[in-house]
Amino acid sequence: MTAPLPRSLDPAAGEILPGYLLRLAHRLAVAPLELGHLCGLTTGTVFPARHLVRLKDTQAQQVADVCRLHPAEAHALTLAGQAPGYTPLRIDYLGRHQSPVTMANDGWVLTAFSRYCPDCLSDTAHLPGGPVWQGSWRLPHTFLCERHNRLLAWQCPACRAPAFSNGYRSDGRWRPTQLIPAPAQRLHPARCRHRPGAGRVAACGQLLDQTGGPPLRPTPAMTHAHRRLAEAATAGAGREVASLGQRVSAQWFFNDVRATVSALLGSWPHPQNTLEAFGAMDALAPPEALHRTHPERSGELGDGRVARTFGHPPADTFLAATLMALTVAILDDSRGHHVLARLLSALPSTSTAHIRLRQHAPHCSPAMTEAIRGSVRLPRKSTGQPSLFPQPATHRGRLDPRTIPAVLPEHWAAPLDGLDAPRRQLRRDAAIRLVQMATGRSRRSAALYLGIPLGSLQSSTVTIRTWQKRPENAEAYQSALQRVAEMVMAEGQRNESGAPAG
Ligand SMILES: [Zn+2]
Ligand SMILES: [Zn+2]
Repeated sequence: MTAPLPRSLDPAAGEILPGYLLRLAHRLAVAPLELGHLCGLTTGTVFPARHLVRLKDTQAQQVADVCRLHPAEAHALTLAGQAPGYTPLRIDYLGRHQSPVTMANDGWVLTAFSRYCPDCLSDTAHLPGGPVWQGSWRLPHTFLCERHNRLLAWQCPACRAPAFSNGYRSDGRWRPTQLIPAPAQRLHPARCRHRPGAGRVAACGQLLDQTGGPPLRPTPAMTHAHRRLAEAATAGAGREVASLGQRVSAQWFFNDVRATVSALLGSWPHPQNTLEAFGAMDALAPPEALHRTHPERSGELGDGRVARTFGHPPADTFLAATLMALTVAILDDSRGHHVLARLLSALPSTSTAHIRLRQHAPHCSPAMTEAIRGSVRLPRKSTGQPSLFPQPATHRGRLDPRTIPAVLPEHWAAPLDGLDAPRRQLRRDAAIRLVQMATGRSRRSAALYLGIPLGSLQSSTVTIRTWQKRPENAEAYQSALQRVAEMVMAEGQRNESGAPAG
């Protein structure tokens, strides 16, 4: 165990690790890198940004020991701890394993910089160690401050670099990210830490809690979208949110958000006509601005980076707010799939957006999958046979198949009970589907894994197939399965964290 610091700090509400360590370092009059080293979060001069997403248990323990916190408080200083419903933070996302590097390049978690509210920084300046950098400012759908009714800032007014970042290289790519930029320099937490060059060049040092000029005010559509997204991001297991007229899990909702963003950006400038008819544009700011999806980077990059980073909300807060307001307006409308169909039909089949949507379709809500399927040719595997819908491995790595019994216990089966289906067969079918979600096995193999005899598999297949041929039954069933999976995972986590520490 590392010796605790003589003095520490209580984390502020909504604060995450980089901001917390910055305040603590300032209070103790040490460089952030030195504090990071004590907390076991550094390797030499490297202070990895991935710690803002999640901590290993051993790391959380050391942070807790050094900073005089409970390990749970250390975990709560991460985005994964604060936004459990926000799927881009998960290690397993859209059917693939996410490394911290993929996550940074993906653009759906702001690991390389932070947006900020200058007024919030100013309001919290009196706290020990200085002002609080909110964790939610790292989520791309956080683009405004409700308390101060303003769009967040994202650049330093003096050096124009994105705040809390190491900035860009001359070719437009991010310089290597760090949990705290310029970590060897001692600076007040409200000051810009961007350094224009390498080596011993001093950081910019501009105070970010002082703004010149009036703030940008959000439109009502932006505020509405912001609330909807924030609510879904903090939704716990089993909570449902609306998407395209259905109640769906937060996971599906965010995958729908991503698909809609791909459709909007990929089919630009087509949406201008489509959305004018949809009536959403009036509430929004000049949409032509969206055409420049990467205003923060200039020029084509030779290494395919533009392709990799395609289809995420821009760093620029105003553009991100416009895009997200459009996206939520489409998903809020029970007839939004018509708008999507028009957008999707405008996508060239060789475009990045088209390819991405084909990959994402199986991970979206049934209504979104249907909308994509109608316009984008999906591989056979994800469209499946119409008679019995397939169950892709959406929860691989998160849902432990060993925790799934052949007969679901009463409290897990609660989401299924609202469905008007043969109860016993549905529970058996659900257990099989949960194993498929966890492992990607075939239906037959999943049944054998659970020890279900093939005769019973056959009879439940026939019964359930007849019932779920009605599309609304299939959709409600998929939605219920997502909720059951969330419950099983939540219980697994509780059991793990309740186990005695080794
Ligand atoms: Zn504010
Ligand atoms: Zn600056």
